[in-house]
Amino acid sequence: MRFIASWVFKCPYWVYLKNKYPEYDGISRESVKRGREAEIKFREVLEERNVKFAYQKWLTLKTRYFTIVGKADFLTSDAVYEVKSVRRFREPSRNWVGQVNLYMAMSGRRKGVIVQYDGQGFEEHSLRFSRSLLDESISYFQDLYSGKFTRDYTQCSHCSYSFICLK
Ligand code: SF4
Repeated sequence: MRFIASWVFKCPYWVYLKNKYPEYDGISRESVKRGREAEIKFREVLEERNVKFAYQKWLTLKTRYFTIVGKADFLTSDAVYEVKSVRRFREPSRNWVGQVNLYMAMSGRRKGVIVQYDGQGFEEHSLRFSRSLLDESISYFQDLYSGKFTRDYTQCSHCSYSFICLK
């Protein structure tokens, strides 16, 4: 069984609904376009810094029962960069931090950077690899593997499946 790294710490019931009704995922064309633009702009930043990188690098982490996969936006010799398009800069969410921490585990890098782009500029947030957060992440996916799709009501306000789940 395969899980996607970017799901980490998201409402487990959201993961269940996303797999059952992918057509209602709610990612707009506009969001995809803004995300792509953020990546292109940050690519230019890395090139200006003369940093060598791999772009959209597939990574995997195998456990006994399942595999976690993900695509790191940029992978350099010592860091993983994940670019997020935002309307305004904010503290990185647990979901973002868990995702980048997984990429660090998968790639052997000990540094991760969450890069936010608001359409005007960047804000970079550096992270160090956390073993305990990796254990929590694997435990999260272990629960999914076991079919424990609990509801996390703290995430409902921005959930594209609320019209199914909360009716
Ligand atoms: S509406 Fe809330 S509980 Fe239901 S799937 Fe979405 S985040 Fe989870």
